[in-house]
Parts: sequence; C-alpha cells; structure tokens
Amino acid sequence: MSFLEYAPAPESTAILDLKPEYGLFIGNEFVPAEGESFSTISPATEKEIARIANASEADVDRAVAAARRAYDKTWSKLSGRDRGKYLFRIARLVQERARELAVAESLDNGKPIKESRDVDVPLVAAWFFYYAGWADKLDYAGLGGNPRALGVAAQVIPWNFPLLMLAWKIAPALAAGNTVVLKPAETTPLTALLFAEIVQQADLPPGVVNIVTGAGETGRALVNHPDVDKVAFTGSTEVGRQIARSTAGSGKKLTLELGGKAANIVFDDAPIDQAVEGIVNGIFFNQGHVCCAGSRLLVQESIHEDVVERLKARLSTLRLGDPLDKNTDIGAINSAEQLERIRTLSDVGEAEGAERWTAECAIPENGFWFAPTIFDNVSTSSRIAREEIFGPVLSVLTFRTPAEAIAKANNTPYGLSAGIWSDKGSRILAVADKLRAGVIWANTFNRFDPASPFGGYKESGYGREGGRHGLAAYLKGAK
Ligand code: NAP
Ligand code: MG
Repeated sequence: MSFLEYAPAPESTAILDLKPEYGLFIGNEFVPAEGESFSTISPATEKEIARIANASEADVDRAVAAARRAYDKTWSKLSGRDRGKYLFRIARLVQERARELAVAESLDNGKPIKESRDVDVPLVAAWFFYYAGWADKLDYAGLGGNPRALGVAAQVIPWNFPLLMLAWKIAPALAAGNTVVLKPAETTPLTALLFAEIVQQADLPPGVVNIVTGAGETGRALVNHPDVDKVAFTGSTEVGRQIARSTAGSGKKLTLELGGKAANIVFDDAPIDQAVEGIVNGIFFNQGHVCCAGSRLLVQESIHEDVVERLKARLSTLRLGDPLDKNTDIGAINSAEQLERIRTLSDVGEAEGAERWTAECAIPENGFWFAPTIFDNVSTSSRIAREEIFGPVLSVLTFRTPAEAIAKANNTPYGLSAGIWSDKGSRILAVADKLRAGVIWANTFNRFDPASPFGGYKESGYGREGGRHGLAAYLKGAK
C-alpha cells in the first residue's frame, strides 16, 4: 500500500498569551493560593506550560464564600433575562477566542487540534448559547411552577474534555441561577483559567464563577464543603462512589457522570464502510479518552472478518503525532499515569488470550503515546471486555442473533452509551429499546448536542446533563 506524504502543518502557538503562573480565580480576580504551586505540562513534549496554584481547604473555603456572597447579593436577584445576557456574552467571547482556546486545549491535553478546533470549542459555545436561551424561560421548561435555584454549586471535572466539561457544568448552573466553584483536573487546568479571563471580559458579577485548581484533595475539600448546595461530578466510578458516600444525608443535590464500556453493535446489513468510520470515531476519537467511547465492538459473526480487515486497513492510515499539527488524527495520551493504565490493561488482554493487533506508526521520542490497538476474539469475561481502558484500544466480540447482541451489550456494570449499525430502522428501534444505556446512537457515534440529555445507568452514574433535563439538576424540586 502506498501512502501520501504529509508535510507538517503545525498550528502556531503565537496566538496564546499565557502567563508563566496562574493563581486561583476567586471573586473575578486571580489570587495566590496558600501552598506550593504545581506545573501543567504538554503530554506531547513533557515540557512545562505554566505553574498552577494548588488550592488548600482554606482556599476552597474562600472560593465558596465568594460564591455564596455573589448568590445572595447579586445573582439570585437578577432576572432570568439579565442572567441570559451574561451567558450570551460568554458564548460570543468563546467564539471570538475560539482559536486560542483550541490551541491551549491541544497543548495542555494532547488532543489533536482538529478535534479541539472542530468539536470541543464549537460545542462549548453551543452549550452557552443553548442555556443562555433557557435563562428567562425556566417557567416553561416543564419542570414545575416557579423553579428556584439551589444556591452554590461545587463542580469537579476530568481531563478528557477540559473546557467542554466546564461548559456542561457552568452553563446550566448559571442559567438556573446558581453560582459555582469549579475544580478542573490537575493535568488540564489551562483552558479553565483562560475561561476565567473570559468571565472577567464578560464582566460577570464577582463571585458568580470561581475556579480552584489543584488535585484530588482540592476536589475533596470542595465537594465536602458544608456551604455548597449542589455537587456535580464527572470522573471515575471509584471517586464517584466516594462522593456519593460523603454527601449522603448532607442535603446536597448530587449528579454523577462516571465511566462506561459502551457496545457498538454492527449487524450484517449495516453499510460497512460507514460503520468502519463510526467504529474508528467511536473508540479512536480523543485517543479513546471518552467516557461514552464505543470500546466494545459487537460484530455479527458473518461479517466479522471483513470488518476487522477493513478496520486494520483504516487504522493504518491514521496519523499519530504532534497534537498541534492539523493533519494529526491521534494525539498524545494525557498523562504518564494514564499511559501506564492503558499498557497494563492491554497486557492483561494479551495474557487472557485475545489477539492483539497494533497499527504500525512511528512513536515520538518524548511525550506519552499509544498506537491504535485492536483486540480480536475477546471473551466476555476478559477484563478488557469489562473494564474501562480509557485509551485507543478496541475489544472485538462477535454475536449471531439480535438477542445475543443485546445480552452481550448489557453484560456490563456500566450503562452510559451504545451504538447500533443496521440498514433496518425497525431493527434499530427494537434493539435500542432493550439496551440499558443512557444514550444510544444509530448509524453514527459520539455525537453531542446541547439540546440532547446525556447520562448513564448503573455504575455510569445518575442525573442528566444537556437539554431541559440538565436544568433540572440545578433547580429546587425539579426532577
Ligand atoms: P477521576 O480520578 O475520578 O478525577 C475526576 C476529577 O475528580 C478530577 O478533577 C480529580 O482531580 C477529582 N478528584 C479526584 N479524587 C477526588 C476526590 N476524592 N474527591 C473529589 N474530587 C476528586 O477521573 P479521571 O481519571 O480524571 O477521569 C477519567 C474517568 O472519568 C473515566 O473513568 C471516565 O469514564 C470518566 N468520565 C466520565 C464522563 C461522563 O460524562 N460520564 C466524562 C468524562 C470522563 P485530579 O485531576 O487532580 O485527580
Ligand atoms: Mg497538562
């Protein structure tokens, strides 16, 4: 097979005007933290990008106090229309600074620029536009009469979609009239801090949005703070469980968006080339660091070999490397720790007897990388069929009948998402009806829209983000 040669096409970082050091964002000002700072690095080069403040319990307390004051004195007194104006302003500023945000996200997270530029940042703007529109229409959201804000929301997010997860959390919270304290992940705080600048530019009343950077301890202090009314968490099932325990009986309203092990089911009547693109998008988008990734391919036995062959051919054309290069398909793994987890679970897959295949590609010398990998003939009991790998690794299983596909798809402690590929609409509807997953895509995968609720069953968490349902999570009495 011959390949086209691609000349490097790196996006310039000249658009970024980063500070060497960032404080905490409290009351619309950057303020120093009590303790030592830490560095955020680019996972593609391992070079430091900036020093970041590490919020202590006392710092978190200051941020919650600022959010409480802002809630009592200004935000809860504004009309929905005025809150909406601020949210529209934020949405427009995100669009204005879109290129800068995309470059910063790819630098800090390692995701390809074409994804941060074409997916993450446009969705961030869309989320703010969408919830801006709801701010003065809460009475008509079908969530009961006279909907009221909860108060101060504590929000903790992971590193896989740093700015997008921020938007999923902050946009509905503010639209519903709450103030927030948000903690980004330790390895990806950069775009949250650029967002803090946008909050200043939008001239939001001080204290409505506060950002506390730090590691797990900062997150723990935030969710356990006695003066927060709501906890919204996206991350691992393990930490989600701890938070459910520690907030139980506290009166805090809780939503948890946790892990997943989604089945992507391909029937023999599916348009195969389209399905192959969907499988690739399902698991290799964002290096597989996607909670709703289609990490378990369930393919009908009669087309199994054909699909796997085509998948291998397609994966061999993906380009792995510099996240800032516009031609890059697979960027860097977010951290050394995550890379280790992917390696360990992949070795387990091999030891348990699955057939491992890895796309041939040159791995850069520095940074954290994992080539796209497929495990074929995976048994349902294998750890790589059950546990979330959260990396560019696909487990392939087969089925003969729709009933077997459904049984295998549901055979997981998770229930976040699923995909169905078939030419028959009736089959898609019949199968979708029996899948225990919060989001089901048909003949597509990993599609997001602010109007569409997203969330899981079982160990994938509870509560919904997006749409009217996403507002309910931030309103009193609303279900
Ligand atoms: P994680 O370890 O659970 O971390 C998530 C966030 O919680 C981070 O900000 C983390 O801080 C913080 N944290 C850690 N320990 C905490 C504690 N005891 N109390 C409060 N906060 C704490 O998860 P991750 O490894 O960053 O993210 C990967 C996981 O997130 C995967 O399992 C994935 O499926 C899930 N995820 C789910 C969704 C969804 O919508 N369902 C979306 C994205 C990701 P540090 O960064 O400093 O550790
Ligand atoms: Mg980083």
